[in-house]
Amino acid sequence: MSVLAFPAPVSRPQDEALRSEVRAFLSQALAGRTSLEKAESWNGFDRDFSRALGAKGWLGMTWPRAYGGHERTAFERYVVVEETLAAGAPVAAHWIADRQSGPTLLRYGSEAQKRAILPRIAAGECTFCIGMSEPDAGSDLAATRTRAERQADGSWRVNGTKLWTTYAHEADFMILFCRTSGTPADRHRGTSQLLVDMRATPGLTVRPIADLMGQHHFNEVHFEDAVIPADALLGTEGAGWAQVMGELAFERSGPERFLSSIQLLIELIAALRGSESDAAQAAVGRLFAHLVTLRHMSRGVAALLERGEDAAVHAAIVKDLGASFEQDLPDIARSLVDAEPDLASTDAFAAVLAYTTMAAPAFSLRGGTREILRGIIARQLGLR
Ligand SMILES: Cc1cc2nc3c(=O)[nH]c(=O)nc-3n(C[C@H](O)[C@H](O)[C@H](O)COP(=O)(O)OP(=O)(O)OC[C@H]3O[C@@H](n4cnc5c(N)ncnc54)[C@H](O)[C@@H]3O)c2cc1C
Repeated sequence: MSVLAFPAPVSRPQDEALRSEVRAFLSQALAGRTSLEKAESWNGFDRDFSRALGAKGWLGMTWPRAYGGHERTAFERYVVVEETLAAGAPVAAHWIADRQSGPTLLRYGSEAQKRAILPRIAAGECTFCIGMSEPDAGSDLAATRTRAERQADGSWRVNGTKLWTTYAHEADFMILFCRTSGTPADRHRGTSQLLVDMRATPGLTVRPIADLMGQHHFNEVHFEDAVIPADALLGTEGAGWAQVMGELAFERSGPERFLSSIQLLIELIAALRGSESDAAQAAVGRLFAHLVTLRHMSRGVAALLERGEDAAVHAAIVKDLGASFEQDLPDIARSLVDAEPDLASTDAFAAVLAYTTMAAPAFSLRGGTREILRGIIARQLGLR
């Protein structure tokens, strides 16, 4: 059995100086946002905000300058992500691109793809969506059926359906995970990634799916004889499985994995102010202890990534524990404050409680379900 160590995070003066700068920017940029809007941070789509973040040099932070990046450290990027989420900033217009599509392009993209797209992401001007899940291929991604066939002129003809595609209706590009040879029975072989232009691909249709709150974030994306140019192949034909696993490691490792419910914790503490209840104090103290521990572990993952080490299992642990923390919060908050959850309420606690209660079930699904992550952790521990 191997031992999993989370290195102690380092706190450098340059990180803390950046933190103050980011906080000052956010307090101005987000002035006037309601608590409910802040609670919606992950889903908040605001191109102007993303452009403003890009103008500050806070997107594509770790990338080479040649591609619009700023050659800063993973910890500096961590500070910006942590502060924007803690402040409830609307991150959806740049979020996926900065976190995973950009790094995937940096690693596997052709020189032309990198030069054309990375500077736009770093400027906060380019939105990406993730084309992985399908009907019958979510957790079992290897069962992907969307197929891209090479045409005589080198272009790809794509047929299939992607599901739960967050912000496909706003995205400029998708990284499509698809089968380019063989059958789903071949599992990890014969899959590839294609860079799909969401605005200029004939045969591509985006259809909305309403979430639990009736809001439109998800989509179904249909490819019907969609033609994608030859130069859209990302990385190596047939190596899609290894590439997509690398992409998922980016998706699972950040502070976003325990900060989705943070606005509710803020409102809970405000609602309890002045309360003499020992039970409430103990509950909030316990929540804080969990939060601080998760943050410590998550920064440990950033330290591993900075050293260039594989942190996939550490990230899975943080994501699983973080999702549990985030999902427990609404119940704990409800047990401590007597308020009716109501999205339309003028009481910030009641509105944020309603939102977080309805959003929380998804926390342990998005980015890989809890059961799958626990399987990955168990394998690392030698338990399966
Ligand atoms: C908010 C949100 C945003 C999302 N955004 C995107 C996106 O932008 N792009 C995208 O491609 N996808 C997206 N998804 C889809 C998400 O990644 C999938 O929902 C997820 O991978 C699970 O796949 P599934 O829904 O097909 O569930 P299934 O694979 O059908 O699994 C259902 C349940 O069965 C159980 N299960 C399945 N397999 C196993 C196993 N081997 N061992 C134990 N238990 C198992 C688990 O409990 C699992 O939760 C999003 C999902 C959510 C909730």
